[in-house]
Amino acid sequence: MTKKVLIANRGEIALRAVRACKEIGLKTVGVYSSGDKDLKHLRFVDESVCIGPANPTESYLNIPSIISAAELTGTDAIYPGYGFLAENFEFAEKCEASGFKFIGPSPDVIKKMGDKISAKNEAEKAGIPIVPGFKNKIPKDEKKLFNIANEIGYPIMIKASAGGGGRGMRVVRNENELIDGLAITMKEALSAFGSDVVYLEKYIENPRHIEVQVVGDGKGNAIHLGTRDCSIQRRNQKIIEEAPATGLNEKELEQVLSSCINLCEKLSYEGAGTIEFLYKDGKFFFIEMNARIQVEHPVTEMISMFDIVKAQLKIALDMDIKLDQNKVTFRGHAIECRINAEDPLEFKPCPGKIIKMHPPGGFGIRFDSHIYSGYVVPPYYDSLLAKIITTTNKRESCIRRMKNALDEFFVEGIETNHSLHSKILNDQTFRDNNHHINYLESDLIKRIKNESGI
Ligand code: ADP
Repeated sequence: MTKKVLIANRGEIALRAVRACKEIGLKTVGVYSSGDKDLKHLRFVDESVCIGPANPTESYLNIPSIISAAELTGTDAIYPGYGFLAENFEFAEKCEASGFKFIGPSPDVIKKMGDKISAKNEAEKAGIPIVPGFKNKIPKDEKKLFNIANEIGYPIMIKASAGGGGRGMRVVRNENELIDGLAITMKEALSAFGSDVVYLEKYIENPRHIEVQVVGDGKGNAIHLGTRDCSIQRRNQKIIEEAPATGLNEKELEQVLSSCINLCEKLSYEGAGTIEFLYKDGKFFFIEMNARIQVEHPVTEMISMFDIVKAQLKIALDMDIKLDQNKVTFRGHAIECRINAEDPLEFKPCPGKIIKMHPPGGFGIRFDSHIYSGYVVPPYYDSLLAKIITTTNKRESCIRRMKNALDEFFVEGIETNHSLHSKILNDQTFRDNNHHINYLESDLIKRIKNESGI
């Protein structure tokens, strides 16, 4: 019998999932909040169910409501996408307890990798290089604490074990800051994440962000789909990503890739995942694993021709798929620009009605987006409007193709970060691949503001 998948998400990733389901003959159920009834993917699903008011805590984060929608529609499996409940082990548990297959890793693995200290321990056991630091209980004795800190060496980052989304971390540069920083971070962590457990990490100054895409079959086999460089970030969030990451230390990379597979095999990892690293002076340092699909997955798809979302569905639904590293090949280069409904330099969200828009097109251009002329961008959710992905043989021509794509693309009615993307693509440091994770905010944006007298 045809299986039915409920897509517990919205926006571009919901549309991406519907497309993949249709391609492999799965029936689809869309869920939406009352503020979201005009979402594009709802026009292509077989059924749709309203799961609550616009406020996400009452709809996309409302587990009983999503489970009821699944029951009502006779769903077989639930696709979480990214954000919302995608890495919530209790949601995964409740799906399974109610008889629905959760499309992703087991609740146990999500829990293990969701806690930063436990994830670091798992990574270390698999032979993955981690950021040096201290992850045992922070001693009360100041002298002991200072000794530990001196051994790590300042600057140090204090991080909440339960933290996420760029929150729950603080850089300290001396003993005084360490004492104050610990108290503040623990207090903040307790109120934001319900746990005051923190750990210490060497603060790596101006690294690149490199990540490895992995896919596991849940039975102990796993493959990697190479690397991505996501070093163009603002407020610890990526806005441009590319695949593969270029100019890496090949010997270290080989080691890292094989230990990533080792980690997935040890965890019997199921579905898609991303292992994230900071990279500095030829060395990789694990920071976390995201047990879900990532926004930037298309750049990997474009250079490997491996459909990651289809693989997630097929693995979860026991459809015919065999993961074989020898069959994975890479060709060319791909870049993604995230177009957000936000002020390009201050990043303030700018929701509202899109009066008119035109997508880019042509050879080697992919446009993953749920927006259309007349669509009203609601104020309640993430500001991502569209992902433009270009693919060519080489990084340089890929940047040129992206510039053309951006020139063709317009959105009228609301403000977007379109102009910032054009400036980044024209920037020599970015073009020479000499940027790092702080470059955009600490350097380029300041220069743009100076030049325009802001
Ligand atoms: P989150 O789960 O909140 O995204 P991460 O551990 O992935 O937290 O860190 C988010 C970002 O914070 C990283 O991409 C990087 O920019 C910065 N960061 C984290 N750890 C360090 C570190 N040890 N040194 C320097 N920067 C760091």
